[in-house]
Amino acid sequence: MGMLNNRLLEVHDLTTAFPIDSDTVRVVDGVNFSLDKGEILGLVGESGSGKTMTSLSIMGLVPPPGRILGGQVIFEGKNLVGLPDKDMNNIRGDRIGMVFQEPMSALNPVFRVGDQICETIETHRDFTKSEIKGQAIELLRSVGFDEPEQKFIQYPHQLSGGQRQRILIAMAVSCNPSLVIADEPTTALDVATESQILCLLQELVTGNSMSMIFITHNLHIIKSLGNRIGIMYAGRLLEQNRVDDFFRDPMHPYSKGLLDSVVNLKSDQQRLKAIPGTVPKMSELPTGCKFHPRCPSVMPMCREVEPQIKELDKGKWVRCYLYQS
Ligand code: SF4
Repeated sequence: MGMLNNRLLEVHDLTTAFPIDSDTVRVVDGVNFSLDKGEILGLVGESGSGKTMTSLSIMGLVPPPGRILGGQVIFEGKNLVGLPDKDMNNIRGDRIGMVFQEPMSALNPVFRVGDQICETIETHRDFTKSEIKGQAIELLRSVGFDEPEQKFIQYPHQLSGGQRQRILIAMAVSCNPSLVIADEPTTALDVATESQILCLLQELVTGNSMSMIFITHNLHIIKSLGNRIGIMYAGRLLEQNRVDDFFRDPMHPYSKGLLDSVVNLKSDQQRLKAIPGTVPKMSELPTGCKFHPRCPSVMPMCREVEPQIKELDKGKWVRCYLYQS
């Protein structure tokens, strides 16, 4: 029972599709996962695997003509799928904070950054002007600016990429959300700035008992950041695991391949030991297991029917026939 009360988010059979030519292409197909309060889930996949579309689906931001075909997103006990725009707008920025990849395009170049933070707070809170400003200054301090008053009056172009990302993080957590969704927030940053931003996110999330979905193509990041990991491929979640178990003993053949390529990179090999083959196009998916053309363990039945998700232990799920007996 304790666990249930601790549940923040449950995603059931989430399916999102786009019309392409005369077809309906499911870019997210039957995705299931859950997130407890205080947990960080790393959603990992190559580009085109459906990880970003999964997060957009959760937030009700699937760009048309795409749409959610089915499934549920139970957040704080309420199903967000099909919620009117007005209600979704209230939840976004308030209960769910978002941090995206490109800080420059998410900020308005003609307004001072402090005013942009104030605006986010104003949308969701009924505070006086001076209360809001005070809160914005506090937020600037909490994301690592030593002279928040001075940062408040600067414009986005006067800041570095890392500083801009700090501003966006301040905006994302400004209403003390219970969930933060961060989509490749450090991709545009250099390695040193990246690790500072990751530390900041981790501090904010754990310090304020928030939960976070962190989307990335970089397994390394999740090793130090996440509690749980989900591996996406061709719109599906192929494996969910606890982070320490995953890095010690990944289950799915695709996960093993991903980890192998990371290990080889670390040992300074020039070439990534790539998984043979390429990520399939969403409009030309193979039959059966979507990974079968690239899988070293492929069996005849893998080509015929897609394996179901199987729970092996609490918090450990895998979609592969090697684990179905
Ligand atoms: Fe490989 Fe078959 Fe498992 Fe797919 S179901 S990952 S093809 S063993």
